[in-house]
Amino acid sequence: MATSVPHTAYSPRVAIITGAAQGIGRETALRLAEDGLDVALNDIPSKTKALQGLVDEIKAKGRNSIFIVGDVSSEEDVKNIVSTTAEKLGSVDVMVANAGIGAAAELLEMEVAEFDRVIAINVRGVMLSYKYAAEQMVKQGRGGRIIGASSVLGKQGGPGFTAYSASKFAVRGMTQAAAKELAPHAITVNAYAPGVIKTDMINHPQDNELGGPGGVLKWRLGLQPDAPDADPSVIASIVSYLVKPEAYFITGQAIPVTGGVYME
Ligand code: NAD
Repeated sequence: MATSVPHTAYSPRVAIITGAAQGIGRETALRLAEDGLDVALNDIPSKTKALQGLVDEIKAKGRNSIFIVGDVSSEEDVKNIVSTTAEKLGSVDVMVANAGIGAAAELLEMEVAEFDRVIAINVRGVMLSYKYAAEQMVKQGRGGRIIGASSVLGKQGGPGFTAYSASKFAVRGMTQAAAKELAPHAITVNAYAPGVIKTDMINHPQDNELGGPGGVLKWRLGLQPDAPDADPSVIASIVSYLVKPEAYFITGQAIPVTGGVYME
């Protein structure tokens, strides 16, 4: 495929991170600010206080930051996140489509409304984030980086994760298709595929009966209670690398970050 924009045109200045109020999104926002990027933060309206606090932390590091509340499953909201970032921070060079929800329900108990909710946020939300960020990057004409949240459950299905696994496999498929489409614009598209990362998402009221935080998740995945887990910094650091100009030759990948729980 002919490349119309050279990869050397890319120089990261501004990143958007969805689902940034806590967990992996928050850690990634701080890391990219430390790397020298200005950062636009998104999350749902109930997380406004946490977003404001994170904006203040990023500004204290000497970078500019704004927050834009919105639901990534809404087309209008995602358009607004991208256009407000371009207007207030000057460009969109990086999109981290991180927002997502966990869901545990077995196929035989699956409610259509719950299935649709998971797909709306985890799949439509990522599609819209990819689409409107890519549109802005193509307009700018100097490349970009798009990164989505897949999962180890997007590599291999797990019991109780029918909807979630479907959504994270979908992110992997979209990432590959978008990587091929956007290559001529020097935009790389990748995803991270985390294993057990210690955030609110993996907490369950019965964790203590199964060895502590993440115990129920590990049990569902067929892992021992002492199976590897890690802090969100392990995801922030792979994003930090993918955003760097030197990572231009990596695209279309869903990179497992699992402590060896899953191997390709
Ligand atoms: P988390 O629950 O701590 O944070 C997710 C954030 O996304 C929350 O702040 C939430 O408010 C926000 N969010 C939810 N729905 C949204 C919407 N419609 N619009 C905007 N924001 C929304 O979870 P996390 O562990 O930090 O997960 C981040 C991403 O990584 C998710 O996509 C998740 O599926 C994926 N992931 C996490 C793990 C893990 O072990 N923690 C493993 C694999 C994949």
